[in-house]
Amino acid sequence: MISVDTAVKIVTDVTEPLPAKTVSFESALGLCLAQDVQSDINMPPFDRSAMDGYAVIAEDTARAPVELTVIEDIAAGHMPTKKVKRRQASKIMTGAAVPEGADAVVKVEETEDLLPHNRVRILRTIDRGRNISKMGEDMKVGQVVLQKGMPVRPQEIGILATVGKSCVEVFSAPTVGIISTGTELVDVESKPAAAQIRNSNGYSLAAQARRLKADVELLGTVKDTKEEISRIMHRGLQKDILILSGGVSMGEYDLVGDVMKDLKTHIYFEKVALRPGKPVIFGKKDKTLIFALPGNPVASFVTFELFIYPAIRKMMGFTSHHRTIFKASLETEILVKRKRREYRPAFLRMQNNAWVVTPVEWHGSADLLSTTRANCLLIVREDAEKFTVGQLVDVVPLD
Ligand code: AMP
Ligand code: MG
Repeated sequence: MISVDTAVKIVTDVTEPLPAKTVSFESALGLCLAQDVQSDINMPPFDRSAMDGYAVIAEDTARAPVELTVIEDIAAGHMPTKKVKRRQASKIMTGAAVPEGADAVVKVEETEDLLPHNRVRILRTIDRGRNISKMGEDMKVGQVVLQKGMPVRPQEIGILATVGKSCVEVFSAPTVGIISTGTELVDVESKPAAAQIRNSNGYSLAAQARRLKADVELLGTVKDTKEEISRIMHRGLQKDILILSGGVSMGEYDLVGDVMKDLKTHIYFEKVALRPGKPVIFGKKDKTLIFALPGNPVASFVTFELFIYPAIRKMMGFTSHHRTIFKASLETEILVKRKRREYRPAFLRMQNNAWVVTPVEWHGSADLLSTTRANCLLIVREDAEKFTVGQLVDVVPLD
């Protein structure tokens, strides 16, 4: 049986980034840039006032208070037309271009209007350059402002708008097909009869993949027969990633592994030293990565987060596709029972400026409800004997 770390490495080694495509900049949110983006403008485009006030020659304020003649009122969207000369000032608003001649802006709070004589009293001495943002200080024409491999977040959307990049190249997000196996499964709208349960994995897996921006199709639920599993898997082989849940344990009706082999899938691993989620099969058939996950809902949830998350992120072109690990101080003692790494649903929070974590109550890998009280997975390492209160432990944040 291989370790979780080895399994993750195998998955990410086998996974290749998908080709790039051009999309409208607004739909790039959550995707990864596949090109460097250059600015076509200087920002600010001119020496710009950072305040509402008066553009002046700083030297004129040396013996403040002083009175200056107001020669112009520069509104937003208008360029100044007059050069400021000695003992003159132009009224200016935030974001407007500083007129020629002026070398500082006095904010309005430090002035008094002397109406109706078009004069202003400057109450304080000001230094040269004060309240002026220099042309191009944020970005210059031709500068690479966003780099290939960066995630597109709301602030990157704003920069794409600033530099006029209405279409941008991003890596494609994978297409994902999801199959739920199990003769006992009924759909959401049905009331389960004796011996039946509702299919929840199909939907939670779809939501996990959609949260990462994958293009998901629920391919349906199948009974535990080789024929049905094989028929639906053929449809799934159109996808970049095919996820199956259930049917991977040692039971008589656990046929997914057999079908994968019948279809000549290249199998990389079939078991990982992990709890929950030991029986997890990873293979590749042509270009499709196939993940067959255990049917227990927490096992299916956890194995997605451990193995499919990095695969999707790598396909999407992200250079950092691994999960972030936090260190948190344990609030409750944990006894280590097995020599298999465990991922326990837990709750992470800040207390006195430090992260603390407590496992939530859970009754094993079928207890999906426990995960609704959790916001992270607490890693109980295989080599640990006992975890004591106050000890720093590794956690994987989920939200
Ligand atoms: P299996 O991995 O097929 O042996 O299933 C293990 C357990 O998970 C059984 O109790 C199944 O009923 C349950 N299970 C399997 N598939 C699903 C599903 N799609 N949704 C919810 N529970 C499931
Ligand atoms: Mg089953």
